[in-house]
Amino acid sequence: MAIILDGKKVSLDIQDELKEEVIRRKEKGKKIPHLAAILVGDDGASITYVNAKVKACERIGFKSTLVKLPEITTEKELVAEIQKLNEDIKIDGFIVQLPLPKHINEQKIIQSINPKKDVDGFHPQNVGRMALGLKTFLPATPNGILEIIKRYKIDTVGKHCVVIGRSHIVGSPMSILMGQNYYPGNATVTLTHSRTKNLKELCLQADIIIIALGKPEFLTADMVKDDVVIIDVGITRIPDESKKNGYRLVGDVKFDEVEKKASYITPVPGGVGPMTISSLLMNTMNATKLNK
Ligand code: NAD
Repeated sequence: MAIILDGKKVSLDIQDELKEEVIRRKEKGKKIPHLAAILVGDDGASITYVNAKVKACERIGFKSTLVKLPEITTEKELVAEIQKLNEDIKIDGFIVQLPLPKHINEQKIIQSINPKKDVDGFHPQNVGRMALGLKTFLPATPNGILEIIKRYKIDTVGKHCVVIGRSHIVGSPMSILMGQNYYPGNATVTLTHSRTKNLKELCLQADIIIIALGKPEFLTADMVKDDVVIIDVGITRIPDESKKNGYRLVGDVKFDEVEKKASYITPVPGGVGPMTISSLLMNTMNATKLNK
C-alpha cells in the first residue's frame, strides 16, 4: 500500500507558513505582498480559479486586486491594463488568468508582463531562467510538485523519472526541473508524449512517473513496477449522478490498482491540484522580496 501524498495538507501548511511570515513582516514594518489578477470575460472555470486565488490571499493576509474586463476587451486594451500593473509599485506580482478569449494572442499578452512581476512564471525570460537553473518564478504546477516531493523527502537522485505529456505548463518544465543538478532533481529523465512508441516499456523502467495527460485512468497497474512513485497531474470531470454537482474528478492513473504497487502516490482530487494556489502565493512572497 502506498503512502498517499496529501497535497491538500501540504498546501495548507505552506499557507500557514506564509501567514506567519506576513505577521512577521507587518511587525517589522515591511511591505505586505500584493497580488493582482486580470480576468477577461466570464468563463465559469476561470472565475472560480481567480476567486479561489483572491480568497487564499485574504486567508493569509496578502493584499489582492482583481481587475475584471469584459469579453470584448481588445488585445491593445489588455496590454494597456498590464502596463498599468507593470508600473504600479504597490503591486508585487500579477497573473492574467488563462485561457483568454480567442481574439487575443496569449503569447503576446504573456510577453507584455514585467518578468519581475510574472508570478505565474510563463514569461519567456522566466522560462529561460528556469531552463538554465537560475533563480526565477517557477510555474505553479511544477513548483507544487517539487514542493510535495521535497516535503515527503522522496529520493530523486539517480532515479529514472518518466514524464508523460509535454505541455508548456506541466510536462516540459517538469522534465527540465527533474533533470537539474539540485534536489528535487538529479534524476535521469525521459519525456514522453503522444508520439512515443514504447510508453509501457519505459514506464515499467520508471522509479518516478509524473503524468499530465488528461486521459482518465490511463496508467494501469500492468504499466508500473513495484515501489514506483506516482505524481498524477490529470484532472478530468466525469459525469456522476450520485454526486451533488453531477460529476466526479478523475486523474490519469487507475488509482485503486496502481496504489497497491506504488511506494507514494498523489490522489485526485487532493494531490497536485491544491498545490497550485500555494505555489502562486510562494511566488508572490518572493516577488515582494525581489522587488523591494
Ligand atoms: P495538455 O492537455 O496540453 O497535453 C496533453 C499531453 O499529453 C500532450 O503533450 C500529449 O503529447 C500527451 N499525450 C496525449 N496522448 C498521449 C499518449 N497516449 N501517450 C503519451 N502522451 C500523450 O496537457 P496539460 O495542460 O499539462 O494537462 C494535462 C492534464 O493535467 C489535464 O487533465 C489537466 O486538466 C491537468 N492539469 C492539472 C493541473 C493541476 O493543478 N492539478 C494543472 C494543469 C493541468
